[in-house]
Amino acid sequence: MPPPFHSVTALAETLQENWQNYRGSGDFADFVGCTVALNGLSEHLLRRHMPGLARLAQELENMALATFSDSTQHPLAPDLSNSIERKLVHLLAELRHHEEPPPPCRRQADSATATATATDTWARERNVLIVAAADNSCSRPLSEQLAFLGFPPSIVSWSAWSGPTTGRQAPLAIICLPDTPGAYSAATIAAITELRTRFPTSHIYCLEVPAELEHIVQLQRAGADTCVPVASGCTDIVVRLLDLTRDEEPEVQRVLVVEDSPTASTVVRRALSQHGIDSLAVADPRRLIEAAASYRPDAILMDMHMPFCSGVEATAALRQMCEYQALPIIYLSSESDVVQQVEALRLGGDQFLTKPINPVVLAAVVKTKIARYREMRHSGQHDSLTRLLNHTTAKTRIGKLVADTLPDGRLTVAMLDIDNFKSVNDTYGHPVGDQVIRNLAWLLRGRLRNSDLIGRYGGEEFIVALPDTNLNSAIAQLDRIRKDFSALPHAHGTGAIYATFSCGVAALVDYPSATSLIGAADDALLQAKRGGRNRVEAASVAGAQVKETAGGEL
Ligand code: GH3
Ligand code: MG
Ligand code: MG
Ligand code: MG
Repeated sequence: MPPPFHSVTALAETLQENWQNYRGSGDFADFVGCTVALNGLSEHLLRRHMPGLARLAQELENMALATFSDSTQHPLAPDLSNSIERKLVHLLAELRHHEEPPPPCRRQADSATATATATDTWARERNVLIVAAADNSCSRPLSEQLAFLGFPPSIVSWSAWSGPTTGRQAPLAIICLPDTPGAYSAATIAAITELRTRFPTSHIYCLEVPAELEHIVQLQRAGADTCVPVASGCTDIVVRLLDLTRDEEPEVQRVLVVEDSPTASTVVRRALSQHGIDSLAVADPRRLIEAAASYRPDAILMDMHMPFCSGVEATAALRQMCEYQALPIIYLSSESDVVQQVEALRLGGDQFLTKPINPVVLAAVVKTKIARYREMRHSGQHDSLTRLLNHTTAKTRIGKLVADTLPDGRLTVAMLDIDNFKSVNDTYGHPVGDQVIRNLAWLLRGRLRNSDLIGRYGGEEFIVALPDTNLNSAIAQLDRIRKDFSALPHAHGTGAIYATFSCGVAALVDYPSATSLIGAADDALLQAKRGGRNRVEAASVAGAQVKETAGGEL
């Protein structure tokens, strides 16, 4: 299994080494190695939110891939080879120039106040540059909201962006707003190109983009990473920034290779491993179900012709089981009969790859399928309004956390409920109520650590689990969030409203199971409501007696 993190420098060195090897040998196999290294580098850069540098690596990768269809082109003609080398030298120089920043992280539980100062180390990692027309109505409220959530913003106008930004450290994100109502002018688009060049590691968002293909393509060409349509409004950008600061330690991608030929299996697994994908081989399809259950693959590569049953039959059998209905299954075969291929897809396969397999294409197909599958799984586990874990997933994960932490570990659980929320809906309408719910979700995400669990437990109710935290520090942290939330303005038609929440906290040290721990936090929440709302209550000492009795598990 590959290590989850490589440094950019190490990847750049591997790439340079591979290229030198190819320059020496002119061998296609070395060229493939070089392309694989480029692919690994561009993915790493994307993961580390350095989209401009990733683009340079991808351009080069595409140039390399264009020569793949005909391996007799190698060694490449001097013109092409020199042109690739020039781009490579440029890329390596850019990589050295932009030293990799540490991964941005959420605020630590013991950080002090809501207002960040420029001297906070985390503040520099999360700063945001807003470039907008001086009279843009969105920039000011957006900037206030970002500051509240721990993304120190600075606003500059399109005419002045190059002045004040000189020498500026690369921001985490650059948020652009159109200079004229409903459109980005040619001058603004040129400015975005310059911003892209100057800050290759920043994520560039263009907001209020008109839904016209021409406009979107122009912005993408200029270097925009994300174009947010005008209909989405301005506030959604916050959740995108929170996603940017998510812990990006990638989950290992697992592929089950069902193939009776040891040679074919070895070739495929080597290609996967070169791209950092873990795999397990199954030679006999009768072992498939057992292997899928224990290995939990993110995709299956399925040979068409095997002893006992065909790949199509094995796929159809797997699809009978609900847990494998959406699992990507890619057929590998020397089959050239189109009718058979169509039939194979109709019977539950997702794609057909013909042997001999091109390792780069194989990895690209597998990674794309896995990404889609994970997105689908992700949306099944998260709530659509807030993007927090949903009720079932939050409860299951807390069950696991408790099991991992018992008997002596430190874990605290809190239940939060917005006060008098019904009257917010009744007075200002459901959409304003929804925004209040989202603002609390975002505040929690902005303030808690990556290791903390945050779920939407019900309508306006949230659950939080803080590992390695004792009752007192959990109460102190949640009370800071409570105070900040009560001061957070929620925009409605003509002004702003304020809301509060109540919270109950319980520590695992006092309870024998996840069920009793959550129950105790819920009881403490009820106490907070009875005590007058807008407060944080610890679970009562009487509740702690539960430790003596065996409680049920989740
Ligand atoms: P308390 O302080 O005791 O918690 O009072 P409350 O008004 O907050 O509690 P109550 O349980 O009476 O009302 C909760 C309301 O939350 C009722 C429900 O319509 C509303 N709600 C639930 N889910 C959503 C949602 O997704 N969006 C909006 N806007 N409202 C929701
Ligand atoms: Mg076979
Ligand atoms: Mg409520
Ligand atoms: Mg409630």
